[in-house]
Amino acid sequence: MPTELTQAIVTGYTDYRDDDRMLTLFSAEKGRIDCKARSCRKPTSKLLSCAQPFVFGEFELFVNNDRVTVNGCDVRETFYPLREDVDRFMIASVCTQLSNSVIGHDSPDEALFSLLYHILSFLAYSDSDPKDLLIAFLLHFLDHTGYRPSLTRCSICRRDVRSDAILFYSADAGGAVCAGCHSGGIPVSKLALEAMRRILLLKDEDLVRVVLKADLRAELFALLRGSCARMLGETDKGIVLLGQIA
Ligand SMILES: [Zn+2]
Repeated sequence: MPTELTQAIVTGYTDYRDDDRMLTLFSAEKGRIDCKARSCRKPTSKLLSCAQPFVFGEFELFVNNDRVTVNGCDVRETFYPLREDVDRFMIASVCTQLSNSVIGHDSPDEALFSLLYHILSFLAYSDSDPKDLLIAFLLHFLDHTGYRPSLTRCSICRRDVRSDAILFYSADAGGAVCAGCHSGGIPVSKLALEAMRRILLLKDEDLVRVVLKADLRAELFALLRGSCARMLGETDKGIVLLGQIA
């Protein structure tokens, strides 16, 4: 029977029976993989350390038709500090769950994998405000999935709005909306649009540099939550989790 090796992050799990766990893996080369980790919750299991949320490693998978089972794993990174901080754990869970919502089976997505890996690293090992990291993730997540908000032009009339004094933001329209086209968006500050433009210019390894003041953080979070919910729907698991972030 064929086995294969793949580097992946554990992005979700469901317990079943007494000691088993169904894992969702995100592999850069293969996309989403749903696989069984048998007996992984027994204290003596060799899979105990890898069948945990956020673990990154090289997984050895046993593939039998559509069924995939974890044989073993060379754990490279556990991001262990995430398990010692409720806020960071929660935000890491939002990022992995949102990734699960968009990655397909047999669909490589190295860009999203890199984004998720870097954000988990910064959540675990940097002093950055976890919500700033979440905002950076959400914005780049929208960009990677083809839902980059319009930030320099009105989403409706396409006019350059960078010199406009009064602006709105509409998740339905796809970003900034000028006062002339406005019908239902929420007011947005020029600073918020500029901050999003700048965050989108950053590479994954530089997202740790995003530092926001409290009012700007709150404004951006509300806008980006709205855009992600518009894309995935309010009942998506990641969006529901995102709604629990204060
Ligand atoms: Zn317009």
